[in-house]
Amino acid sequence: MPETNQKQGLDELLSDFSRFYILTILYEGPAHGYQIMSQFKKRVKKEISPSLVYPFLEQLENKGYVKHTLQPVGDKIKKVFVLTDEGRELCTCLFKRFAGLVSIAIEPSLSVCAHCGCKVYEGAYKEVIDGKEMAFCCMHCAASYKESRCR
Ligand SMILES: [Zn+2]
Repeated sequence: MPETNQKQGLDELLSDFSRFYILTILYEGPAHGYQIMSQFKKRVKKEISPSLVYPFLEQLENKGYVKHTLQPVGDKIKKVFVLTDEGRELCTCLFKRFAGLVSIAIEPSLSVCAHCGCKVYEGAYKEVIDGKEMAFCCMHCAASYKESRCR
């Protein structure tokens, strides 16, 4: 099933926090490689290697999540990377998933609707999708989730 392959590819792609963080930087707006690295350093207080940033951007671009334009920056021409619509959609999905994980870690009695991301304290609507039990706030969210799944 191509869908499963794509999902595995994505998890592999996001196997570490740095990559996830690069996406959050791109989500805020277009950036060139050096900007991504300096933003990363400013916020995470850690250096990120260009040998991680550039291949990751290339992978994202190959998968159609990112595209680049050439723009003059100072006296140089740089590749400025921007998320595609698909890429933004991917980020929204990841952020929801991430927010869900964080909420559950803080409040174990909580479920988070896998579709809209709202918090469900009790009586979540549960459905098994792709062999995994998923929680939703209502059956309508479950139906919409099945229609437009996070890839
Ligand atoms: Zn919902």
